[in-house]
Amino acid sequence: MLGRAAVGTAALATAVVGGAALVRQVLATRRQIAHESQTEEEFAKASTRVLILGGGFGGISAALELEHRLDGQRARDTSVLVIDRDISMLFTPLLWPVASGAANPNSVVVPIRGFQRNRRFHVLHAWVNRIDLENKIVYADGAEPRPYDFLVIALGSVTQVPDLPGLRERALLFASPADALTLRNRLIDAIELAHRSDTPEERRAALTFVVGGGGDTGVELAATIHDYLDSGLLMQYPWLGKEPFRVVVVGRADRLVPTATTEMSEAIRRSLEEKGIEVRTGTAIQSVSETEVRTSNGVIPARTIFWAAGITAPRVVRDIPGIEHARNGSLIVDDHMRLPSHPQVYAIGDSSWGYDAETGEPLPPTAQAAEQQGAYVARCIVAQLQGRDMPPYSFSPRGHLVLFGRGAGVAQLGPVTLSARPPFLIVGRQKGLRVGPFQVTGLPAWLLWHGYYLSHIPRWRNRIYLLVDWTLTALTGRETAQMPLMAGTRE
Ligand SMILES: Cc1cc2nc3c(=O)[nH]c(=O)nc-3n(C[C@H](O)[C@H](O)[C@H](O)COP(=O)(O)OP(=O)(O)OC[C@H]3O[C@@H](n4cnc5c(N)ncnc54)[C@H](O)[C@@H]3O)c2cc1C
Repeated sequence: MLGRAAVGTAALATAVVGGAALVRQVLATRRQIAHESQTEEEFAKASTRVLILGGGFGGISAALELEHRLDGQRARDTSVLVIDRDISMLFTPLLWPVASGAANPNSVVVPIRGFQRNRRFHVLHAWVNRIDLENKIVYADGAEPRPYDFLVIALGSVTQVPDLPGLRERALLFASPADALTLRNRLIDAIELAHRSDTPEERRAALTFVVGGGGDTGVELAATIHDYLDSGLLMQYPWLGKEPFRVVVVGRADRLVPTATTEMSEAIRRSLEEKGIEVRTGTAIQSVSETEVRTSNGVIPARTIFWAAGITAPRVVRDIPGIEHARNGSLIVDDHMRLPSHPQVYAIGDSSWGYDAETGEPLPPTAQAAEQQGAYVARCIVAQLQGRDMPPYSFSPRGHLVLFGRGAGVAQLGPVTLSARPPFLIVGRQKGLRVGPFQVTGLPAWLLWHGYYLSHIPRWRNRIYLLVDWTLTALTGRETAQMPLMAGTRE
């Protein structure tokens, strides 16, 4: 009986794997990468050379829009080259499910080479180490210096950790899949420490997690930690389950997520507090030791601190001489996202500092803004080539989504414009009747968050991975295995 079942399973598995291999073969023949690699000489000979530094949200969006806008002879004469130190694009908003054991790290990165399929732009895998604006040359490790006619700087940002006693040595950051796995590992270590602790005080300090930063990243981080402990990890330790754990968000500003509307900030605070997360706004962290975090509002006994307050431009951007930098090192741009003293150099996304031409508000450091700015500067470059003017840049927000773990979130949509002509509903600032913004919370916001990012990630493979991960999590719970992250053998 068992033998027959085994033979049946093996036959089914062979049929499925064989069928999948056949489909893959057919698809692979149809989707041959029609893309020619370009030599350095060919790049140098092109009559217009557009260099895009950074293949993240802003850089890839600029490359795709240039592909779309440049046509005919102009397209053949123009070389577009994207330089990135990683050959994959990281979808940062989806790091939360990775950290909470609900998704696999592969689901949140997309290979940049995949974007080249049937397109003309080129990619160089190299670390940019110097930008010489005077001589219009970019230097990258292991590559020949690259001259340019137009430059788009889209190198993103890094987390800024202030020089407070103990903070730089002890704070954990959150910006990459490795950080997401480290967060999971550290929470597992903390629970194991609580399990071994002899006194209630030690156990309580082991089970207290402080998040420095009350912006988007800080609140989502706090909710992710809470969620992973509450509906993942602690279920593996039923004897610790009754032990109260604490997640405390500490922010300097007087409200959470100061870039959101006051109503949204309030909704975020309520959602966190309903979960049992402590919120301390108007509070500054002063120092950190192995066992406590000192703040302007008292001492929190805690062994683990995460830092998510503030970003700065990467060193290569901060080090560009002879131009104006903002306080965080990013590049001050004019109302066309250009460096005022270099009209053929654009800076976009987190590496730039500019103001909305319509509202006068600072442009937000978000993926949404970086993508829009990438498309905008691509249109500006084409307009410059054709001797046309472009209107100044104004950000059209599509909404603001914040995830709060299982079944919870806050979403602000719009404003939307109702137009009398198709497509009738437009997100952004076009002419028509403007309504909204609308705010939703709880499960509808959670569903919106998942639906939006599932549709937005630009690869079917990732979408399928994510759907499978989320379904498996709903059916069987979160991943609670600790992931060894050290290379090689350990002794
Ligand atoms: C955890 C987290 C969650 C987030 N969630 C959201 C969200 O929900 N919604 C949202 O809108 N925004 C979110 N953000 C912010 C968003 O990720 C950034 O605003 C966005 O990535 C900025 O886009 P960018 O193109 O400027 O930079 P990036 O997308 O970071 O791209 C920069 C690129 O430059 C490359 N690079 C950097 N230095 C060098 C160098 N020296 N040489 C070569 N290449 C280099 C990097 O490899 C990278 O590919 C989140 C950020 C984090 C960290």
